[in-house]
Amino acid sequence: NEEANIIAGALQLANKRVEDIMTKMEDVFMLDINTILDFETMAEILNYGYTRVPVYDGDKTNIVHLLNTKELALIDPDDNTALKTVCRFYDHRPLVVDYDVKLDQMLQDFLHGNSHMAIVQRLHNDGDHDPYYENLGVVTLEDVIEEIIQSEIIDE
Ligand code: ADP
Repeated sequence: NEEANIIAGALQLANKRVEDIMTKMEDVFMLDINTILDFETMAEILNYGYTRVPVYDGDKTNIVHLLNTKELALIDPDDNTALKTVCRFYDHRPLVVDYDVKLDQMLQDFLHGNSHMAIVQRLHNDGDHDPYYENLGVVTLEDVIEEIIQSEIIDE
C-alpha cells in the first residue's frame, strides 16, 4: 500500500546520494549573468517555467547566483534591465553540496536552510593537475520528496 511505500522510500534515503537523483548539468536551464532581460529573454525564462535558475559568470562551470524567477515579476521588458542588477539586489549565493551527500542529510539541509536547490559538485584532485570542482548537476527538494513517495510529482 501507499503508506508502506512512503516509509520504505524514507528508509532508503540514507542509502542514496544526491548524484543518483540530480538533474544533470547538460539538462539544467541556466543564464549568463550578462544577460539583458529584454522581452525575448523573459519570454524564454517564463517558457521554461522553472522557479530557480542558476546564473553563471564567464562559463557554465562558474555558477555565482541562484535566480528565483518570481524576482522578475515587477521587471518591465521594455527597460532592458541587466540580469546582473537583479542578482546584485537579491544576492542569493547558491547552496553547494558534494555529489556523495546522502539524501537524508540533503533533506535536512533543505528543511533547515534557505534554499530548495543545491548545485552538486565533485572535487577532482587526482594528482596531475591542480584540484578543481566540477559541477555535476542540480538537486531540489522536489527530487528528494520524489524519492520518498517513489513517484513523479506532476507540476501544475
Ligand atoms: P520547479 O519549482 O521549477 O518546478 P522543482 O524544484 O519542483 O522545480 O523541481 C522539478 C524538477 O526540475 C526537478 O527534477 C529539478 O531537478 C528540475 N529543475 C529545477 N530547476 C531546474 C532548472 N533550472 N533546469 C533544469 N531542471 C531544473
